[in-house]
Amino acid sequence: MPDTPIIDMHHHLSSDPAYPDKLARACERLHIEKVCVMAIEPDLFMPEIADNAAVEAGFHKHPDLIVGFGHIRLGKDGPEKVSELKDRGFTGLKFIIPPKAYHDESFYPVYERAEELHMPGLFHLGIVARQASGHHVRVDCSLMRPVFLDSIARSYPGWTIIGAHLGNPWYDEATMAARWNPNLYFDLSGSTLKYRKPEYLGELLWWDSTTRYGSPDGSSAWEKIVFGSDVDYYEIKDVLHDYENVFKTLHLSEKVRHDIRYRNGARILGLEG
Ligand SMILES: [Zn+2]
Repeated sequence: MPDTPIIDMHHHLSSDPAYPDKLARACERLHIEKVCVMAIEPDLFMPEIADNAAVEAGFHKHPDLIVGFGHIRLGKDGPEKVSELKDRGFTGLKFIIPPKAYHDESFYPVYERAEELHMPGLFHLGIVARQASGHHVRVDCSLMRPVFLDSIARSYPGWTIIGAHLGNPWYDEATMAARWNPNLYFDLSGSTLKYRKPEYLGELLWWDSTTRYGSPDGSSAWEKIVFGSDVDYYEIKDVLHDYENVFKTLHLSEKVRHDIRYRNGARILGLEG
């Protein structure tokens, strides 16, 4: 495991009140300097995941480590909720299970406010884990396709957004959208790194400044990837190991490795230029 600094862009707290302290101890061991924690409000179907209030308590308790992403319930919360979360100290926003496709224009006032307030947004993409309870909530995974983030990124070029799970299973869509949108990033959390070979990711993330086809800002494909765990604190090490396996197998340069572990996330969070 590398002893260089890491930013985890995708994490959740469980409802265990001791979780933030356990997470802090794990992060110290793993050299994780910042961990972005996504809230999910309980009226969705994931009561075991900490809501906005619990995440808020977490970043007050560990202000140097925990970066709060507040949950906006698309279709219910308007732009005033974005401002409220900003005032409460949240850094970014989390979106999941929309009632209409993510790029539906009825959501645009929310996105516009997020851009204005410089709050990066992380969108769950693709398949959602099925829960034992909560069947009253209609889950339509087809409303969370990566190509919708392409529309949003083009409409709000000043807003930085992150798509989770590389769009599982719509990987091609995700990576092509990443290529054309300098403000669009992806994490590789979820099951992807377990069932896809590193070589497969290498084929999808192929362009850099030397290839015949590139990106408008000259960035390389791997500059659009961030580290995200999306597992309990005691499994973060395993996800880090999976990322390191990709780095090693594809012979990614030390610079690119550092970009993914830390620098791309730092840029999104405004920690460095
Ligand atoms: Zn998640």
